[in-house]
Amino acid sequence: MTDASHALIPSQDLTELLGQVRDCSICEAHLPLGPRPVVQIDPNARLLIIGQAPGTRVHNTGVPWNDPSGDRLRKWLEMDREVFYDPRKVAIMPMGFCYPGKGKSGDLPPRKECAPQWHDALLSRMPNIELTLLIGQYAQAYYLSADDSERAGNYRTLTERVMDWQAFTPKFLPLPHPSPRNLRWFKNNPWFESEVVPWLRQQTQSLLVK
Ligand code: SF4
Repeated sequence: MTDASHALIPSQDLTELLGQVRDCSICEAHLPLGPRPVVQIDPNARLLIIGQAPGTRVHNTGVPWNDPSGDRLRKWLEMDREVFYDPRKVAIMPMGFCYPGKGKSGDLPPRKECAPQWHDALLSRMPNIELTLLIGQYAQAYYLSADDSERAGNYRTLTERVMDWQAFTPKFLPLPHPSPRNLRWFKNNPWFESEVVPWLRQQTQSLLVK
């Protein structure tokens, strides 16, 4: 187990690194259900999904996106579960790997310790990633701010950022969270289903046949 008070030096070896992630307890004191990191990593993956953090259903099963949000995401991707859960095709690395607990309005944000501790090390072991889906405000703030702070600062809302999706492609695609909580957003923003989703499907299919 890791020392809960110190960041770890990530291993250069992927198997060891994944073992370090599995045993991580850096923010254990803040996790109501304890650490259970949920990631899907393989050096061959071309598509990377960076979401927020597991909910209770994902925590209980240990399977990422194994909930209604995942069903909607697979629908956007036009992808069945078999392909989605093939780590050689799809990598899944949320902003926080463990369930963070509940707040006043839904789950708490991903633990802020997690991405700085693990993301760079895991990304460096996935050299074939061509498209990264940034799902929700936390992934977008972390990656788009670092990538282009001037431009990212121009967006006041997630909607504005997603509307300007072509500014980030083909490396990144900012997406709203596919949660049933966002049904109103999907209804109010029909351009998302008619413009962004078709591009996402086409791009994903071309990545998978390579
Ligand atoms: S959320 Fe991340 S940093 Fe915290 S215990 Fe889980 S794997 Fe470790």
